[in-house]
Amino acid sequence: MPTPSFISQRAHGVDASGIRKVFDLAAKMKDPINLSIGLPDFDVPEIGKQAAIHAIDAGHNRYTQTQGIAPLRDRLRKDLSAEFNKDVGDVLITSGVSGALLLAILAVIDPGDEVIFLDPYFVMYKHLLTMAGGRSVAVDSYPDFRLHSDKIEAAITPRTKMLILNSPSNPTGVVMSESEIKSAVEIAKKHNLLILSDEIYEPFLYDVSRRSEAGGRIGQASDPRPTIRDPRLYSPLSLYDNTLVVRGFSKSHAMTGWRVGYAFGPAEVVAQMTKLQQYTFVCAPSPFQEAALAAMDVDMSPHVEAYRKKRDIVYSMLSPRFEIEKPGGAFYVFPKAPGGLSATAFVEKAIANNVLIIPGNVFSERDTHFRISYATTDDKLVRGCEILLSLV
Ligand code: PMP
Repeated sequence: MPTPSFISQRAHGVDASGIRKVFDLAAKMKDPINLSIGLPDFDVPEIGKQAAIHAIDAGHNRYTQTQGIAPLRDRLRKDLSAEFNKDVGDVLITSGVSGALLLAILAVIDPGDEVIFLDPYFVMYKHLLTMAGGRSVAVDSYPDFRLHSDKIEAAITPRTKMLILNSPSNPTGVVMSESEIKSAVEIAKKHNLLILSDEIYEPFLYDVSRRSEAGGRIGQASDPRPTIRDPRLYSPLSLYDNTLVVRGFSKSHAMTGWRVGYAFGPAEVVAQMTKLQQYTFVCAPSPFQEAALAAMDVDMSPHVEAYRKKRDIVYSMLSPRFEIEKPGGAFYVFPKAPGGLSATAFVEKAIANNVLIIPGNVFSERDTHFRISYATTDDKLVRGCEILLSLV
């Protein structure tokens, strides 16, 4: 008699084959030019490291309050309220943005509820929704990767409950324009949807200028932190209170392994997420919450400047030969595979030539584009792009 499987339908419903294939291929490569990595190539700022070490030495190794340590929550609430020009309410500290996404979906989505997001998408949305019994409705956004309200409207049913926006986007790097944000908000208002705004890449915005409160340019000696941008240019929360924002320190401060993110928005949702965190993650890692607080005082703008230059390098090298949307943020570009090749076939060619990139079907129902992460040295980036050009 065959042994019965212990595995749930829920687990079977999550298919991770696409990305696993890429990891398998990568494992066989010796010293590849790796343009596949979704995290910064700089390290945690020294002040953050010292704060973590100090916290551990000082014995701050126990549970914190479920919602996070008060100094970090207070600082975030103060800075965010200044940014949005209104009180953003309680901020919940989570175990990375992934933790915030899971709690948000568990707090809002009942089995059968539908959630709309653009295709291509950050893969986790689909899998978290499967785990919660929700339905993913991925709305095709090729070839410009923009939000077209007619397509979103057409996807709405009486079961639609949430609209996930991710700007700057992983995997396209595309940043929503002010008018796209306005139309997303109009739709959400009309159909009473919660917007879940994944703003993990918000610090990496290249074409939305920051100004200091004093009106000076970022990076000037006279420029006191925090610097402020007009959030109407990049966040739906500025126009619509039923927006839950998730952000974190993983990308902004290169702390992907330290698991600190946060969520803020409708009080009712944040309260339910806090309750659910109590019975899942319990709290975000204690010493790293202190490290994140200390790191908030570090000026990360030189890194952002360096990434803007990398964006310009990739775009100027590849755009003459590849169909490519100019990204305005994050550290990704999402060009079309050349010559009618499928993305999978082109990625195989690239890997045979020692460049590791990710086929678009990992992030999409289509297999036509590929993701480049330019979070690497300028030298590797240029060499990688030269090889990709030689394959056209
Ligand atoms: N959202 C997006 C769009 C991401 O790209 C990532 C990380 N790749 C996450 C959320 C999760 O981030 P974290 O490491 O903070 O869980």
